[in-house]
Amino acid sequence: MEKVRLGIVGCGIAARTLHLPALKKLSHLFEITAVTSRTKEHAEEFAEMVGNPRVFENYEDLLDSGLVDAVDLTLPVELNLPFIEKALQRGVHVICEKPISIDVETGKRVVRLAGNSDKTVYIAESFRHVPAFWKAKELIEEGKVGEPVYMNWQIWVGMDESNEYVHTDWRRNPKHVGGFLSDGGVHHVAAMRLILGEVEWVSAIVKDLSPLLGGMDFLSSIFEFENGVVGNYTVSYSLKGNDRFEIAGTKGRMEIFWDKIVLNGKEIEVHHEDSYQKEFEDFYRVITGEKKNDLGDPLEALKDLAFIEACVRSQGSRVSVSSLL
Ligand code: NAP
Repeated sequence: MEKVRLGIVGCGIAARTLHLPALKKLSHLFEITAVTSRTKEHAEEFAEMVGNPRVFENYEDLLDSGLVDAVDLTLPVELNLPFIEKALQRGVHVICEKPISIDVETGKRVVRLAGNSDKTVYIAESFRHVPAFWKAKELIEEGKVGEPVYMNWQIWVGMDESNEYVHTDWRRNPKHVGGFLSDGGVHHVAAMRLILGEVEWVSAIVKDLSPLLGGMDFLSSIFEFENGVVGNYTVSYSLKGNDRFEIAGTKGRMEIFWDKIVLNGKEIEVHHEDSYQKEFEDFYRVITGEKKNDLGDPLEALKDLAFIEACVRSQGSRVSVSSLL
């Protein structure tokens, strides 16, 4: 199997703690040949953790080096569009962390760039690789809760000073819509859409409760999927609490966890896998032509972001999600 030569661009939390451990398990598919970051010492420290890839002072030199077939972008969100564009101009495939971009308008430009290129743009959305969500979808399609009627997801992230994400400069002064609401929220929307399909409209209230977190940090919404299922999605990045993710139907209900589904009171175990590893495996198969880019499709990532932007715009009124797309 031919290895893909990968350049890591941005050596922050995601690159160090999520991508590198996954890539180490995939050394038969990827070889990290080059790295760059804003701060040279961070790139050098990261390179040491990898082995000894070439460290580049800037992105353009990395792209022009001829050492990479693909780049892995783990950057402040506002850099996604220009960095994707530069990679495609040089004929280099891209895997880029979610959210696709700072807002839907900018995201549409990413979708267009990807559509006009013969190289892959894969937006890495780890929640599209979580087995429990696929199992929930399967059980619903098998009619295990009857006709689904209602979905409720409450998420209490409870970030405080000790959380390293809180201190990243681009999150403290967010250019991305809703701050934490889109940074974290696109994950939740990806899971909800995976299980129950497209959302027609949302009505939401968003708030900035915590001075510690940049941008908005609380969102509570009611919405309707195109199939008529009614949803409630509430997330707070500052308040603590017990998460709850449930779907009720005409003949039963399920509660969804990372490693199990509780269906009508009965536990069904689901093997939880490293979703970052699965995402890189999927990316490999896409760029080697084995499968189409369904899970990393920029349009899917744009739809996730559109839900959150519709919530931010809503101020309690009903907003059609597709009107943003
Ligand atoms: P982070 O820790 O701030 O890392 C961003 C990195 O980008 C930093 O290392 C920074 O450089 C580098 N950078 C900034 N400007 C640059 C430039 N002009 N050229 C090259 N490098 C530059 O942020 P993060 O938490 O890793 O987040 C990065 C991305 O991953 C975001 O899109 C985020 O949403 C995503 N993410 C996803 C998940 C997930 O579960 N899928 C989890 C966390 C984050 P220096 O450090 O060298 O100064």
